[in-house]
Amino acid sequence: MGPEVRELESRLAEFTGIDHCITCSSGTDALLIALMAFGIGAGDAVFTSTFTFIATAEVIALLGATPVFVDIDPRTFNIDAIKLKEAIEGVKAKGEFKAKGVIPVDLFGLPAEYDSIMPLAAEYDLFIIEDAAQGFGGIYKGRRAGSLGHIGTTSFFPAKPLGCYGDGGAIFTNDAHLAEKMDSLRAHGKGNHKYENVRLGINGRLDTIQAAVLLTKLELFPQELAARQRIARAYTEGLAGIVEVPFIPEGLVSSWAQYSIMTDRRKEVQVSLGEQKIPTAIYYRSPLHLQPAFSYLKYKENDFPSAEVAGRRILSLPMHPYLKDAEIALVVEGIRRALIEEKNSIP
Ligand SMILES: *Cc1c(COP(=O)(O)O)cnc(C)c1O
Repeated sequence: MGPEVRELESRLAEFTGIDHCITCSSGTDALLIALMAFGIGAGDAVFTSTFTFIATAEVIALLGATPVFVDIDPRTFNIDAIKLKEAIEGVKAKGEFKAKGVIPVDLFGLPAEYDSIMPLAAEYDLFIIEDAAQGFGGIYKGRRAGSLGHIGTTSFFPAKPLGCYGDGGAIFTNDAHLAEKMDSLRAHGKGNHKYENVRLGINGRLDTIQAAVLLTKLELFPQELAARQRIARAYTEGLAGIVEVPFIPEGLVSSWAQYSIMTDRRKEVQVSLGEQKIPTAIYYRSPLHLQPAFSYLKYKENDFPSAEVAGRRILSLPMHPYLKDAEIALVVEGIRRALIEEKNSIP
C-alpha cells in the first residue's frame, strides 16, 4: 500500500469518471468485497449470467448466498434483460430467497445492457455490481465501463485489457459510504487504524509493485484500446459472411478483451489454426449452470439454451494491441481455408 497505490486509485477514478476507486488483490476479491459491502449472505439471491468466468458466481456462493443464473442475449453474449426480469419475478414469487442484486458481466469487453438493467434495479430495489473484469476500457453510451452500476469491479490479471504483472483488481463507486466500507473490508475490516477491526474483512491489498506497473501501462492504455478497435475491425472485415462475427450495439465500444466468433465448424477452424501454431481459446465451453461446482443448484441441460449453444459454437481468436497486419491476415486466411476451401474440395 505504498504511495503508488493511492496515485493509481486517483488516476483510475479519473479515467473511469467515478468518485472513488479502491484497488485490491484481484478481480475476484473486488467482487467479493463489493458483495460484502452490501451485506450479502445466506438467504439472499444474486442474479448473474450463466455465460461468464466462474469468479462472478463463485463469490456469491462463497458468502452463503444463492447465485441465480440467467440466459444471455445470443447476439451480445451478455445477460438478457427480459429473462433477468423473469428470473427476479420468479424468485420473488417463490419466496425462498430474498432478491438482493445483480452482477451483469461485460463479456469479452462489451458492456451489458445497462439501460434495461438499471430500471430493474430501481423497480425491484436491487443493487447492480458491474463485473468489468473484461470490459475495462469499454464505453456504454459515453460512459466508461466500471461506472455503469452502483459498484463496478475490474481485474488487472495479465490477460485482461489492462493487465499488470501478476494479480490485481479495482472497485469503483460514486457512493462515499460504500467506498469507505470497501476500503475497510479490503484491510481486515479496519476502523480508524489498522488494529481496530470494526467488521470482518479480508487481505485484499494490491501490491505496490503492481500499482507502479499499472501507472505506466495506464498511460499507454488509450492507444492500446485504439489498436484493439483497429484489429477487431480488420478481423470483422476479413471474416464477415464466413463465420458469425461479434455484434456491437449502437453507442457501445468494446474493450475487446476477446474477439470471439461463432461457427458450427469450430473444431475444423481450431485444428486448422492450430496446425499453423495460431492459438485459439474457448470461453466458455460449459456455462456455469452445468458446472459440477454448482450441481447443488439443480440446473439441467436446456435451462439456458442461448448460453449452451454459444458454448458449443464459440471460438476466441488471438487479440492483443500489438498484433501485426500480417498476423491478422494469417488468422483470417487460416479460417477461410478451413471453412471455404475444404468445403469446396468435397466432391
Ligand atoms: C478474470 C475475471 C474475473 C476474476 O478476475 P481475477 O483477477 O482473475 O480474480 C471475474 N470476472 C470475469 C468476468 C473475469 O473475466
